[in-house]
Amino acid sequence: LVRVRGLRKSFGSHVVLDDVDLDVHEGEVAVLLGPSGAGKSTLLRCVNHLERPDAGFVQVGGEVIGYRHSRRRLYELPARAITRQRAQIGMVFQQFNLFPHLTVLENIVEGPVATGRLSRRDAAGQARELLERVGLGGREQAYPRQLSGGQQQRVAIARALAMQPRLMLFDEPTSALDPELVGEVLGVMKDLAATGMTMIVVTHEIGFAREVADTVVFLDGGRIVESGPPADVLDNPRHDRARAFLSAVL
Ligand code: ATP
Ligand code: MG
Repeated sequence: LVRVRGLRKSFGSHVVLDDVDLDVHEGEVAVLLGPSGAGKSTLLRCVNHLERPDAGFVQVGGEVIGYRHSRRRLYELPARAITRQRAQIGMVFQQFNLFPHLTVLENIVEGPVATGRLSRRDAAGQARELLERVGLGGREQAYPRQLSGGQQQRVAIARALAMQPRLMLFDEPTSALDPELVGEVLGVMKDLAATGMTMIVVTHEIGFAREVADTVVFLDGGRIVESGPPADVLDNPRHDRARAFLSAVL
């Protein structure tokens, strides 16, 4: 479903992604690991064109994200086309980014209604189902500030799912949470993976990677230095940097 080829991105003279290739098949979960500054967030942000790559491309479902080919050149798509592409890609951030002035229900209803995908009534029905699914049935009328961080993050997941994405991106979804709230969010993500959702997850939760990931990718200095099944990458890392990183987080 996701094909990344030759992806490069620099900020000024600082090369943040250096020739990254990545494949994530339909229904698979890829976990991205790596030290701070490795380029994990930038890679995720290139996947939904929140960052514009300098070279290489990302395909989702065979479609190049952000660009079209014409006469052997790439042209950036118009904003509307990019918005349409992004609608297939849900993203969940470390900071939950809920709208503080909207209720939980309104937060989830907003996307599908604003894009004309669902009527307000259908979107509300869907939102109630999604809230059940993330364990928050009955909290429709709460405001984000009335919820714990773990609950807010579960609303953020429900909100992303309301757009019926083909792909979900998670950027350290539990690292802003108190330790006792991490499990409930990982549990929702695990359930989501079990439904067959294709996911790319940046996390330092090695237990989650071990249990849920099909592929673990270790990124360092903008390059993929290890990639493979969790047992290989987590238990037998070949690369020194990966070994040092893993012994620090385990
Ligand atoms: P972390 O674990 O700390 O979240 P990361 O692996 O997600 O790190 P990125 O956020 O992708 O790393 O950043 C990689 C590098 O790119 C960092 O050195 C960062 O300072 C730099 N960087 C990221 N975004 C920008 C930007 N908009 N402008 C300039 N430099 C940036
Ligand atoms: Mg990051």
